[in-house]
This record gives sequence, structure tokens and C-alpha cells, in this order.
Amino acid sequence: MTQEKRKIIILGSTGSIGTQALDIIDYHKDKFEVVAISGNKNYKLLNEQIQKFKPAYCAIADESLEKKLISDKTKVFSGDEGIIEMCRVCGADIAVCAIVGIAGLKSTIACIESKMTIALANKETLVAGGKLVTELAAEYNTPIYPVDSEHSAIFQCIQNESNRNGIKNIYLTASGGPFVDTPIEDMHKITVEQALKHPNWSMGAKITIDSATMMNKGLEVIEAKYLFNVESSMIKVCVHRKSIVHSMVEFKDNSILAQLGRPDMRIPIQYAIMYPERIDCPSEELDIFNTGSLEFERPDFDKFPSLKIAYRSLEEGRGRSLVINSANEEAVEAFLKGKIKYNKIYEIIESAYNTIESADEMDLSSILETDKRTRIFCREIMHKRRQ
Ligand code: NDP
Ligand code: MG
Repeated sequence: MTQEKRKIIILGSTGSIGTQALDIIDYHKDKFEVVAISGNKNYKLLNEQIQKFKPAYCAIADESLEKKLISDKTKVFSGDEGIIEMCRVCGADIAVCAIVGIAGLKSTIACIESKMTIALANKETLVAGGKLVTELAAEYNTPIYPVDSEHSAIFQCIQNESNRNGIKNIYLTASGGPFVDTPIEDMHKITVEQALKHPNWSMGAKITIDSATMMNKGLEVIEAKYLFNVESSMIKVCVHRKSIVHSMVEFKDNSILAQLGRPDMRIPIQYAIMYPERIDCPSEELDIFNTGSLEFERPDFDKFPSLKIAYRSLEEGRGRSLVINSANEEAVEAFLKGKIKYNKIYEIIESAYNTIESADEMDLSSILETDKRTRIFCREIMHKRRQ
């Protein structure tokens, strides 16, 4: 008997995660039907994906580019609201949420409300609206499976109930990024080009900069708290330069389980969209005989204060993580455009954190309002400091 194909929507199909998700789907053509895709500006790649995967729907966030999408059988949407509408009408079973930044929050919520299984790459969604998103997922009975490699590793380590109940600590591994050995006094000299060169992973620009500042790991600490519902004191970051051990879970009996593999996002993407099945994957195998030693180091919290502020935000609650996320998005964008120096990224985040107030309980509109307020504040201080 042939199995029915799973209908899948890829939000952010033109990005690093989106294209790798489509690779997996192409490899398992018999298992998936792409019903919808979306991008922001890259209409050329969207047109290629329309040709190849023939989705019933395609959305582009930049409304001015709608006419560039060549479609005879594909219905086209545009703008933020167009993406949301597409989520609501496409009838997918699974959503790969791979838009970058808080821009992905509303569409992730729309997919939850449409009762899709969520394969979540867009960690900013949980950092900005973790409580709201996880409560909605519980209300609509929609599972959220992590795509982020560390969280996928943890998820894989807690597949039985006794493991889930017996967690003592979570060890989130971090490559340390390109500046793990850069002396603290040289950090101000870092250029955009240097920051965009990640030692192990090839990813979108924003997350690559987040990896260089280690804010990525800070965001992942927050992501882990919401995904696994553990105290922040139970989440430890350890630097593991080779990115072979993707994370570990220590249990109450002092046993530690880890998930290993090559640094290839197609493995966690496939796990999330095929869950709980384990089938072959187009990724390369890990050659354990040539992996060498596996080492773990404590992170340098003084050199990477982003980690410190992420933990602080979890202790303080009241939507503090949201402020960090919005300020980080603004600062990283400015850094990428050459408007601020590397070492100003954290300064902007800290200033916003110390200035912008946020509420305890937040619905979508108050999240978006706080996001806007934080961004305006950041733009103003960046403008003032340039003068
Ligand atoms: P990319 O920058 O490569 O891709 C981002 C995607 O989002 C693109 O499809 C882009 O469209 C789209 N997009 C950008 N802005 C908007 C917007 N305002 N509205 C709608 N769509 C938009 O990012 P990544 O694929 O690297 O990352 C995606 C998410 O996955 C991030 O949250 C990241 O933290 C997370 N992640 C990524 C990993 C990786 O290996 N890359 C690993 C773990 C997590 P367009 O191409 O047209 O601009
Ligand atoms: Mg990660």
C-alpha cells in the first residue's frame, strides 16, 4: 500500500534552511508534497522552486516583487498578510518555519492555529514570544519539533518518558564561532567579512553574525528553556569546536546521552519533518575513526557578554528576552550594513535592555509593540552615536 504524501509548507524556502529542507524533500519525493513556499525578495529562486516543486501556493513578503513571480498553476500571495493568508489556506500537515527573525512569528502562529506540525528553525519566534507560542501550540495540540541542531540533539536524547522526567542538566554545545581565540582587546577590530566566516557551518548572514558574537548561543539557551520547559540554571553552554557533538543531556543518575553527526543541517531538518521515523539521509556519514578527540571548554562570558544577558533575561522574565532579540536584530543589521562596529552590537543590546520596559504577560500585539519600541530606540541611539 502506498503511503499518502505529507503536505508541507516551507516558510523561508529561499534561505539556507529552506533550501536544505527542499533538498531533503527532493530526496524523499515519495513522502512529501510541497504545497506552499515563501521568500522575502529572492523571486528568482522562488521561480525556480515553483518550476521544480510545483507548489499550489507561493508568497513573497516584498509586495513590489509579486509581479515577478511567474506562475500558471501556483497562486501567488504577497506582503506579510499574504504569507499569513497562505498559511491559513494551504492545507499543509507540516510547516518548516525558517524565516529569519521576529518576521517569522506571525506565520508560525498562523501555522499553529491551522494545526500543522511545526518544524521550527526560526528560534527568534521562541525568544520573542516563547510563552505565547508554546501555550498556543498546547491549545491547538500541535507539536513543535526543533530544527536547530542543538535542540534536535536534546530532543533525540529525551525520546522516552523516563529520560524526559530525569533531566538534570542540558549541555548546549557551541563551536565558539570564528573569534573564540581572538584576544578580548582585539575584538573591536573585527570586520564584517571576518565575522561572516564561520568555521564549521554555512548559514544565513544574520545567524552567522549571531554565532560570531555568541548571541546565537544565548538565543538558543532561551529557545531550550521554552522547548524543554526546564529551569535556566539547568542549561549549560559548553564550547566544542568541532561541532560533532550537537548537544548532551545529563540525567539524574549522572548518565549523559549525546547526539553526534557531521555539521550538516539536513540531519536535524529531516528528523523534524520525518519524526519519529529514521530513514536514510543525503547527508555524509560521520567517520568516527577519523574524528579525533572530542573536547569541551567553558565559554568566556566576559568576551561574549551576549551569553550573560540571555541568562539574565530568563531570570528576570517579563518579556526581557524579547527586548534582547529585537535589539540584536537591529544591531546585527546595522553591523552588516557597515553602520556600526562589531563591538557596538553588544552595547546596543545592553542599552536597549536597560531602557526598554516590557510586560509580564504578552499577547501578539504587545509583543509587536515592544519590538517596535525597542527598534526605534536602537535606531535613535545608533544615529546619535554616529554624529
Ligand atoms: P537565511 O537568511 O538564509 O534565510 C532567511 C529566509 O527568510 C529567506 O527565505 C528570506 O527570504 C526569508 N525572509 C527574510 N526576511 C523576511 C521577512 N521580513 N519576511 C518574510 N520572509 C523573510 O536564514 P537561515 O536559513 O540561515 O535561518 C533561518 C532561521 O533558521 C533563523 O531563525 C536561524 O536562526 C535559524 N537557524 C538556521 C540555521 C542554519 O544553519 N542556517 C541553523 C539553526 C537555526 P529571501 O531569501 O527572499 O531574502
Ligand atoms: Mg544551533
